[in-house]
Amino acid sequence: MTAQDSLLPDSSDNSFPVPEELSSHGPARIIAMSNQKGGVGKTTTTINLAAALAEYGRKVLVVDFDPQGAASAGLGVNARALDRTIYNELIASKPDIKSVIVPTSVPNLDIVPANIDLSAAEIILINEVAREQSLARVLRPVLDDYDLIIIDCQPSLGLLTINALTAAHGVIIPLEAEYFAMRGVALLTEQIERIQDRLNPRLQLDGVLLTMIDMRTLHSREVMASVREGFGDKVYQTYIARTIKFPDATIAALPITEYAPNHSGAQAYRQLAREVVSRGQCA
Ligand code: ADP
Ligand code: MG
Repeated sequence: MTAQDSLLPDSSDNSFPVPEELSSHGPARIIAMSNQKGGVGKTTTTINLAAALAEYGRKVLVVDFDPQGAASAGLGVNARALDRTIYNELIASKPDIKSVIVPTSVPNLDIVPANIDLSAAEIILINEVAREQSLARVLRPVLDDYDLIIIDCQPSLGLLTINALTAAHGVIIPLEAEYFAMRGVALLTEQIERIQDRLNPRLQLDGVLLTMIDMRTLHSREVMASVREGFGDKVYQTYIARTIKFPDATIAALPITEYAPNHSGAQAYRQLAREVVSRGQCA
């Protein structure tokens, strides 16, 4: 192997096999990226896991489900300028999701954008019939077009997040490596159990993803150990290190896999993509 080879994607890690090519697409599995705490890496993981799976030939749809619109911005969509977003479909009597899907600069990766309009949805949906199922209903017409749909949740356990968990097959919980990372997670896992019970029996906790790790610090290593103790093999083997390349990629409005394709952060999300496929959480 030459020095050049070692820079190629995936050459450094063979712990999860490169997914086989798909000969056809769909029906989609749906993953909700959820943690009611902000700043833990939900949006970063949504964008980069989606982009890495798209690189592996999976057809992926990101649903921006946060009125802040960070997933839209991070994938190069100026959602503030849009008249129609996920919000309009959620409250429509005859939703037409296909009319709000936008392709991204990444082949195989599309997005349903959101902007601040979405903040009104919780209040409007309160009086709807089957208000918890609104998103599931909106997504139904495109299930056969994608292999995976990732919903980037807002940092709350409110009605929008309940909609995401009701539409989903699985939940990924990103946890920032800091001492209070586990605080509040019990509330989220109780919410997941309640939704399994009442609304969506198929819902699974796909995994807990440790983000913003600095392995040089005892602190990060201790948090990692305690999260693994708490969640066992629900914790993905892949973890995401803390690096300035992620905020840099956000400013460039690109996934890290495009912005810095050979960077260890891009490799980490490719490894997560392979782990997700090897766990059967994406085709
Ligand atoms: P959330 O969606 O949970 O609020 P974000 O994904 O938006 O969290 O991340 C919060 C901030 O941390 C963003 O500025 C993002 O660029 C940055 N960030 C995310 N992951 C990392 C990481 N592994 N290393 C360094 N910064 C990160
Ligand atoms: Mg976010």
